[in-house]
Amino acid sequence: MNETTQCSIVGAGIAGVAAAIRLRAAGASVTVFDQNNHVGGKLAECSMQGYRFDMGPSLFTMPQFIEELFACAGAKMEDYFSYQKEEIICKYFFEDSTVFTAYSDKTKYIAEACRVFDVEPEALITYFDKSAMKYDRTRSIFLERSLHRWSTYLRRDTLKGLMAMPKLDLLQSLHQINRRAFRDPRLVQIFDRYATYNGSTPYRTPGIMSLIPHLEQNIGTYYPHGGMISIPRALHRLAEDMGVQFRLNTKVDQIMTEGNKVTGVRVGSSVIATDRVICNADMFSAYRYLLPQVKAPEKAMQQERSSSGIIFYWGVKKAFPSLQLHNIFFASDYRKEFDWISEGGEWHQDPTIYLNITSKCDTHDAPEGCENWFILINVPARAGEDWKHWTEVMRKAVIDKLSRLLKEDIANLIECEDVLTPDLIESRTSSHLGALYGSASNDRMAAFVRHPNFHAAIHGLYFCGGSVHPGGGIPLCLLSGKIVAQEITQTA
Ligand SMILES: Cc1cc2nc3c(=O)[nH]c(=O)nc-3n(C[C@H](O)[C@H](O)[C@H](O)COP(=O)(O)OP(=O)(O)OC[C@H]3O[C@@H](n4cnc5c(N)ncnc54)[C@H](O)[C@@H]3O)c2cc1C
Repeated sequence: MNETTQCSIVGAGIAGVAAAIRLRAAGASVTVFDQNNHVGGKLAECSMQGYRFDMGPSLFTMPQFIEELFACAGAKMEDYFSYQKEEIICKYFFEDSTVFTAYSDKTKYIAEACRVFDVEPEALITYFDKSAMKYDRTRSIFLERSLHRWSTYLRRDTLKGLMAMPKLDLLQSLHQINRRAFRDPRLVQIFDRYATYNGSTPYRTPGIMSLIPHLEQNIGTYYPHGGMISIPRALHRLAEDMGVQFRLNTKVDQIMTEGNKVTGVRVGSSVIATDRVICNADMFSAYRYLLPQVKAPEKAMQQERSSSGIIFYWGVKKAFPSLQLHNIFFASDYRKEFDWISEGGEWHQDPTIYLNITSKCDTHDAPEGCENWFILINVPARAGEDWKHWTEVMRKAVIDKLSRLLKEDIANLIECEDVLTPDLIESRTSSHLGALYGSASNDRMAAFVRHPNFHAAIHGLYFCGGSVHPGGGIPLCLLSGKIVAQEITQTA
């Protein structure tokens, strides 16, 4: 591949930028288009009255996939980006006053869990060991390669993974696996919550999702210096230093094709001719709006969406030493909450609250003695909801619950605020119905068989990002950028 291979990338989300860096490193000439004025898509930032907030992702795992990008570009990561490992993964609060601190050190985690819950160390050790085994056996098949190429199935590690299938808990739900592993319902709830890491429900997502705790507990959770926004900022700078062209504030109106070949992208009335187009826009929006001339995969497009969120950004004029970087305040009836999020049930007004406070790590993120609260509650990605109304209802529910559990009148402490709702997520990032992670992984097929990273009939058309294989969340999006770059370099 060389400069004469022209690649256009539609979308500067994390997957689009990862693909850009890898393709440029392989010698291609790369242009990235984004309708927004910043690189990072859902990784965005806002500031008000001396408070800074990351608006999208807040949990950073698997930093090795970021490191790989610097290595493949031949650049020194420390010139662009740095991060630290967190000693406390998360602090959990229950309505019955139970408080559990999940330490990153496994021995400390187990000791604390045995102190707080009705559990023996062996049950936790076995769970984490199985979690690691599930990840190791499946990552090379399900995460690191296209599932839509025969060559993937001819590899030795794929065969090893396939042989391990019976141990992967594909036939039971995550909740069933957790109930079998732990008798204390509070511990079951903690391990059920990992389903939300890809916007699914623990009552239907397959038990193999119990590999997610391995990523947090055995590999670790991290904090990027400067906040989550420093990830796309560093990758943007790296890509520009390598010669990738960015055209921000530029909406692509159509991906152009002729016969069975991609020919370029159209921006307004001008067509930019290109051999390869990598679509980082949500697959649903891509087929509906960017590829009207191409038959859409209607079945894949009807797949259930992952959950969305209402996110409050509050400048809080008090410091709470009892809180950590990541905090969870659980709903008392978890099943009812997921009936509402994933099964079309009635609105549930005791949500599980995720509270992230980056000023715990970066003191510049809030004025002295204050904290920047990012509060996320999961809500359904559902059409026709009155989000303004539900934001008011949920704001009250969140304030009541936090005031009760923290024994403080929270409403009086909020000195500035902003809010993000599913309709805003959709309008800002083209994510259909504001889903955070593309489609949900609420059954075995949906968990693994997502839209491929290339178009089977149109030569030169590729897809990356949270709505396609291998899925949503920063680590998987980075892997989708890697798979696309491998596909292109192997066929160039
Ligand atoms: C509130 C929230 C919290 C989250 N929390 C976490 C977390 O803690 N950890 C985690 O790992 N993940 C988290 N996620 C999920 C994670 O943000 C996403 O999975 C990931 O960032 C998606 O990246 P992407 O590459 O698919 O692109 P996106 O971020 O979806 O960006 C796509 C880009 O394409 C652009 N685009 C679309 N159409 C066009 C067009 N026609 N022309 C030009 N540009 C176009 C959009 O403007 C956008 O910038 C969260 C998401 C949200 C919203």
